Amino acid sequence: NRRWVLASRPHGSPTEDNFRLETIDIPQPEDGQLLLRTVYLSLDPYMRGRMSDAPSYAAPVEVGAVMVGGTISRVVSSGHPDFKPNDWVLAYAGWQDYAVADAGTVINLGSHPDHPSLSLGVAGMPGFTAWMGLTDIGQPKSGETLVVAAATGPVGSTVGQIAKMKGCRVVGIAGSDEKCRDATENAGFDLCLNHRDPDFSQKLRQACPQGIDIYFENVGGAVFDAVVPLLNPKARIPVCGVAARYNNTDSPQGPDRLPAFISSLLKKRIRIQGFIIFDDYAPHFPAFRTMMAEWLRQDKIYYREDIVEGLEQAPQAFSGMLQGHNHGKLVIRVAAD
Ligand code: NDP
Repeated sequence: NRRWVLASRPHGSPTEDNFRLETIDIPQPEDGQLLLRTVYLSLDPYMRGRMSDAPSYAAPVEVGAVMVGGTISRVVSSGHPDFKPNDWVLAYAGWQDYAVADAGTVINLGSHPDHPSLSLGVAGMPGFTAWMGLTDIGQPKSGETLVVAAATGPVGSTVGQIAKMKGCRVVGIAGSDEKCRDATENAGFDLCLNHRDPDFSQKLRQACPQGIDIYFENVGGAVFDAVVPLLNPKARIPVCGVAARYNNTDSPQGPDRLPAFISSLLKKRIRIQGFIIFDDYAPHFPAFRTMMAEWLRQDKIYYREDIVEGLEQAPQAFSGMLQGHNHGKLVIRVAAD
C-alpha cells in the first residue's frame, strides 16, 4: 500500500521534496466501514491550500499525514450492507492505493458505472462548483457577456457551456492557443483569449464591446486586472478561486489598487461574492448529479480529461497543474479497473 504524505510545507511552487512516498500495511476496516482500492485520484487546485498552514476555510494537512483528495475507488471488503465487494464509489480516500472509509462518507456508483472518472470532474465537485457559482451568484441572463478564465479546466469549461445554454455571450481565457481552440471549437465558447499574449488586456477590451456582466473568478492576477475596467454596472463576480496566486507566499508588488477597486464596486453597484462549494451548497449536490447525468447522456456538455498514469506521478502532475500544464480535468489513474 503506497501513499504520498506531506513531507514539508512548500514555499512557492510545490516541489517533489514536499512529498514523501511511503509503503505501509493495508488497513483493516471495522463494522460500518469499507476497505477501498483507489482507481482514480483527483488532483485539484485547492490542495495547494491544504499544504499550507496559513489560516483558511479548511484545516491544513499535517506534516507526515497522507495528502487528501477525492477518488474513484472500488470496494475490496465491506462492513456495511449497502456496499458489496467490487462496487465503485466516489470517496475522499486521498493520495494512496488503499484506504478505510466510513460507509456514510462515500457515494455508491454501483457495480458498472458509465465513465466513473467523470464523477471527479464535470459530473462531480468541479462541475457542481461551476453550476452553483454561475447560477446562484452569477445569475446569468440572455444576451449578457460572461468572462471566465481557466477556460479548459473542469470548472471554467462547464461555466462557459452552462452560460451558453442560458443565452450569454461567453469569452474564455486560457493559457495557450491550443486550449483556446478547444474552448471555441469543442466547448462552444464564442471567443477565447490567451492570457500569455502581450496584448491580452487590449484584446479582452475588443472581445467585450458591450462590457462584462459576469466575471466568474477562477484565477485572479493579471486576468482580474484586465477585467475590472470592463465591468458593467450591476455586474456580478462569483469568486471561485484565485489560481494565479496559490503559489505566492508574499503580497504582490506595486501600488495598492484596492481602494480604486472598492470605489468601482460602489459606482457600478457590482456584486462580488466568494463561495466554498460543499460548505455553501452541499444539499444541492444530488440534484446537480441527476441534471448533469442527463446533460451528458444528451451530449449537451463537452468535457476533457487529462489522465496521468501512476500514483508516483502525482506530485509532479499537481505542481504542473498550478502552472497550467494540464489540459482538462487532471486525474491520476492509480490502478487498472
Ligand atoms: P484547472 O484544471 O482549470 O487548473 C487550474 C488552471 O488555472 C490551470 O490549468 C491554468 O490554466 C490556470 N492558471 C494557473 N495560473 C494562472 C495564471 N497566472 N493566470 C491565469 N490562469 C492561470 O482547475 P479547476 O477547474 O479544477 O479549478 C478552477 C478554479 O476553481 C481554481 O481556482 C480552483 O481553486 C477553484 N475551485 C473553487 C471551488 C470552490 O468551492 N470555491 C471548488 C473547485 C474549484 P491556463 O493554462 O488556462 O491558464
